[in-house]
Amino acid sequence: MLKQVLIDFLNLLFPVRCVSCGECIEGRHSVICDGCLSKIQITDYHLYPNTNRLWMLMNTNVDIKYAYALFKFHQNDIVKKLIHYMKYKNHPEIGVQLGILYGSILKKHHCNIHFDVIIPVPLHKKRIEQRGYNQSEMFAKGLSQIINIPVNNNCIFRTVNTISQTTKSGSDRLLGMDNVFTVVDMDEVKGKHVLIVDDVVTTGSTMTSCIKALKVNLNCEVSVAVIAIAE
Ligand SMILES: [Zn+2]
Repeated sequence: MLKQVLIDFLNLLFPVRCVSCGECIEGRHSVICDGCLSKIQITDYHLYPNTNRLWMLMNTNVDIKYAYALFKFHQNDIVKKLIHYMKYKNHPEIGVQLGILYGSILKKHHCNIHFDVIIPVPLHKKRIEQRGYNQSEMFAKGLSQIINIPVNNNCIFRTVNTISQTTKSGSDRLLGMDNVFTVVDMDEVKGKHVLIVDDVVTTGSTMTSCIKALKVNLNCEVSVAVIAIAE
């Protein structure tokens, strides 16, 4: 009750505007209005999780079981805005909401979501200090709320702080990603089906490096879920 009064008061003082169209939004739980949200096309990857484009991209370098991507990054400016706000404008709640959205879609379509644990691709601790949060972890949290699979943030670490690699070619990027991740708690993942989650996948080199670290001597089965695939 008191909380609602406070929320109403804050809305009056600082109305929340949709990041896409600028319209005021009711409540403080969202950054995008329902109208704009309905304009974003969701991929159909969940309908064929072991033959879609992300699955093929990942399987050129590492064996994965299923691949899921909520959006196509370049298809829609609203998606770009959402991800920009999530990563660079201090809106971690966007990640949680997108996780809840995707979790609901996967559940509704009875997808193969029987993973043992969800692991967000870790950021280097310096990056976390700058940003204050790991956006992939937020997405993982939202997914976890709906599909009831625990998130583990402590068993794999990013030991190398990679610089932006957008100017390098795909194979160069992969070479640069060697030994970036270290599994520190092997018992947590050994023999399990792990869902790796990330924000935007471009070449897949970051997730590939993370998955390779998990697969070395650990007999893990790995699937991936991302917010958006760049194409
Ligand atoms: Zn809007």
